[in-house]
Amino acid sequence: MGTIAAVLGDITRQQVDIIVTAANESLLGGGGVDGAIHRAAGPELAEAGARLAPCLPGRAVATPAFDLAPVRHVIHTVGPVWEDGEQGEDDVLVSCYVESLLLAEELEAGSIAFPAIATGIYGFPAERAAHIAAMTVRSLPIIDEIRLVAFDEQTHALLRDALAEPVEEWCPTCGEKAIPLLFGRPVEEARQAADAGSVALGGCLLPEDGTEPRWQCPRQHRWGESRRDQRRSQVALHDAIAVTLGEDHGRSVP
Ligand code: ADP
Repeated sequence: MGTIAAVLGDITRQQVDIIVTAANESLLGGGGVDGAIHRAAGPELAEAGARLAPCLPGRAVATPAFDLAPVRHVIHTVGPVWEDGEQGEDDVLVSCYVESLLLAEELEAGSIAFPAIATGIYGFPAERAAHIAAMTVRSLPIIDEIRLVAFDEQTHALLRDALAEPVEEWCPTCGEKAIPLLFGRPVEEARQAADAGSVALGGCLLPEDGTEPRWQCPRQHRWGESRRDQRRSQVALHDAIAVTLGEDHGRSVP
């Protein structure tokens, strides 16, 4: 079981394999957290970044971490510049976390630290960003230790609250709220969660068409075969069982 934690502090002081920076497209270094990371890593970071630039919003690239060693890599991701929330800003922010995690997995990282991407100069509202950060990393916990690093108390509190929220999903067909769908013989805890209406039981037999949907809405629509959907529904199932049993499910993930 991995851990996902909200941490208050300076990201350049984190003892992790990978530090993520909230870069701009040039990857030459900027203000805010990116400036702090470039100062700590030394001038070679900008030289390495320049060779990979431009990096588009929502994408991520990796360089060595230079003077930040024993940190091994810096992942540079470019957040969305906030306009009004209707220009795909949420999707770009989700993509920053997803692309960074996938890249970190390729680099065989055991631990990674993220700043609150886009919430400074780029102007993304802090609470909405905390919610997206928490939900996205919880739906893709492919790195053993994930730290969401806040530089101020308020962001720290927002991240902690967001990490404690149950995972939510809505039906792509009708927009109704969904619950995780479980195939196979359910354990007793899952049966109790199903009785409480927070989990749907799909039956012991897997669908014959080879698909294994992971979500169901009240109108019986079923969906979700991607790896991310699967992980997300596992986390939701874990939440539903913990809530049903009255456990403090904290921020660990299955
Ligand atoms: P963006 O341009 O993506 O908005 P910023 O660097 O302006 O990026 O801000 C992103 C977040 O990083 C803000 O919440 C800011 O407070 C935080 N931050 C700034 N310096 C550090 C640091 N040294 N460690 C961790 N977080 C930091």
